[in-house]
Amino acid sequence: MSIPLTAPTLPTLSKGSFSSGTAPFAGGLDGLMSIEGTAVQFGILPIKLPRETCSVDAENLLRRLGRFPHSDNPWLPVATLGPCLIFAHHAPRSEDMWGVPPFLAVKVAISQEQYEKIRRDLVLRLSATPLSKTNPLETLQIPSFTPGDLEGAFRWLLDHYPFESNQAEKLGLLYAEAVDRTGLVDREGYNSLMPSLGVALQYLLEGPLQLCFNPDEAPRQDRFPAPLLEKHNVYPIYSGEHKVYLLSAEVSNYNFEDEWLSQGNDPIDFVTVLADAKMIRAVISRSSSKVTSSTGIEIEKSTLSLSDSAGLVIIEPDDVAQINPKSLNHTAEELVHWVLYTAITSRASDLHLEKYYNVVRFRARIDGKLRVIYTAPEEMLPRFVAILKNYANMNQSRQEALDGRFALSLGQRRVDVRVAAVPCRNEMQKVIMRFLDKQDGMKELSQLNFSVRQSAIVKRVMARDQGLVLSTGPTGSGKTTTLYALINSVNDEGINIHTIEDPIEYEIEGINQTQTDPTHGLTFSNGLRALLRSDPDVILIGECRDKETATSAINASLTGHLVLTTLHANDSLRAVSRLLSMGVEPHLVGDSLAMSQAQRLVRRLCKYCKKPVTPTQQIRELFAHQGIPEDKHDTNIFAAIGCNECGGTGYTGRVALMEMTEMNAELSDLIERGGSQIELRKAAAKTGFQTLYQEGLIHVLEGNTTLEEIQKVSYTAF
Ligand SMILES: [Zn+2]
Repeated sequence: MSIPLTAPTLPTLSKGSFSSGTAPFAGGLDGLMSIEGTAVQFGILPIKLPRETCSVDAENLLRRLGRFPHSDNPWLPVATLGPCLIFAHHAPRSEDMWGVPPFLAVKVAISQEQYEKIRRDLVLRLSATPLSKTNPLETLQIPSFTPGDLEGAFRWLLDHYPFESNQAEKLGLLYAEAVDRTGLVDREGYNSLMPSLGVALQYLLEGPLQLCFNPDEAPRQDRFPAPLLEKHNVYPIYSGEHKVYLLSAEVSNYNFEDEWLSQGNDPIDFVTVLADAKMIRAVISRSSSKVTSSTGIEIEKSTLSLSDSAGLVIIEPDDVAQINPKSLNHTAEELVHWVLYTAITSRASDLHLEKYYNVVRFRARIDGKLRVIYTAPEEMLPRFVAILKNYANMNQSRQEALDGRFALSLGQRRVDVRVAAVPCRNEMQKVIMRFLDKQDGMKELSQLNFSVRQSAIVKRVMARDQGLVLSTGPTGSGKTTTLYALINSVNDEGINIHTIEDPIEYEIEGINQTQTDPTHGLTFSNGLRALLRSDPDVILIGECRDKETATSAINASLTGHLVLTTLHANDSLRAVSRLLSMGVEPHLVGDSLAMSQAQRLVRRLCKYCKKPVTPTQQIRELFAHQGIPEDKHDTNIFAAIGCNECGGTGYTGRVALMEMTEMNAELSDLIERGGSQIELRKAAAKTGFQTLYQEGLIHVLEGNTTLEEIQKVSYTAF
């Protein structure tokens, strides 16, 4: 007998979403066993999922890899692992996996209760748009790979896997770049091309015996202290009665086990579950702190310690957890530590301390928006200000605007804090702190989300031995991050790279970095002159803000140096007019410019709660008007909803919109003849150039952000 799939409250299923065929397995003994028992019996991972829905990514992947199921109790897609689908069941004897080739499916065991809830969710999702009835992949045979041959598995995927539009091409390019840079690409190397890709390749090679999982779907844990997990980069994905399943990027975890035992704990049978190292780090920090919409910030257990070593402030995550910010029993310094810790672990980019009516408040900028994370009585302001100024080695004068910095050590992380104190009325002061995270700051080119066209441009441009590269965008648009990634992509011992910056945001091994120092007469333009004496191949000038710097930069880029710099301009083509208006000769710009790039950061949709919506006729006309072909926007876009993961905002993190113009003969000719913006755009359009707004629309179609978010760049559209 098969279980009726549609609960009375659910809408009728459209034909062909789930069939009513005979179930190969329905209920039985397995339903009575614990998840752990079931998992051990079937050699799969037991898990209590934090969400009882199929993720949007999983639904999309199911539509590409599968067909409608042949039974009423199939495996349920819950999440993705790179190119693989994670399927969950409470009764792992079921064989129905929607026609998805078994070697692309990772199985996990869940409770019957979760199974039923997820199935309900899935029925709803699929009743709107049913799956296709057939699956061309079903007959795909698992190839026989040589053990350990990650590259072989990767190449097989490129040839056989149904990647979206040009994703395979993009992966191929990223792979070629990674090989150029590091020679051999290892598991983590593949993970950096696409999250969890290396883990999935290992799974392809080793088959179902290899337990693996996606850390994004890990539930919270409180069994192990966060610093211990941070140190070994492991995370307990399931703590059972007999075994603890541990997410790890390494196959063995003896060091973690040894330290656990040496702390006097009882021995535990640890089972390794392979996962992406970077994602494990993210889940550890996500699990130890959290901003929620209603209650402010929750932090799990911890205490506090201070370092008096000048300029370095040490905050132990373990200590912070002992602080209850609502309690009056803490010193001002403890509260400052709590605020700094909370801001940084909530991915804040900056933190503002200020008086607001009769309270003092700390606001953190998280994903580009300021949010109040802590308030205290007004009388606390002078004490907070004094502590922060003391950290930054600033004098305590209330009348002066001051700048300073200090370093913060937070568990394994080192964060540089730049501090500015500004006098306000009534002898009050405001303190603004900006966080520069040394680990998060440096990005690989592959993390910058270039399109295939853009990757190709970057590759060509960075291979040149001379020329000028411009990056434009407002403050905080991530242009420095992009330039660092560009120079780091050519950073090897055969190349002499020199920078002049204000400030030096990230220290990069192998690169000579100079900080401007106007009080001692070291400016961008004379600093550039000085560093040219060391005959660098590649030069980064932090900012091009006057004619003198612009002219020296251009001269250098015409005499055997590749010069990268940032400029204030609205878009990549207006950067050209900006240079001209600074007084640089048009023919010099035309001759030297290799590439001009512009960017903006917009908020990224929260992947846990974003909801597909059908675009209205008006929206589809907008896409069409912006030159996006009909077949590309014949798809759902997504709306921001809000859930616990994103603090109710509907967004987490940010995504960069990039506009890139590569110079060619026609464009330089136009620049030399004083061509208008419109002429320049027309010429650029012939090369596949898209405006920031058009790039934004593509991100909307890809489900990365919303139309509301990209409206802010719409003034650059035409
Ligand atoms: Zn959310």
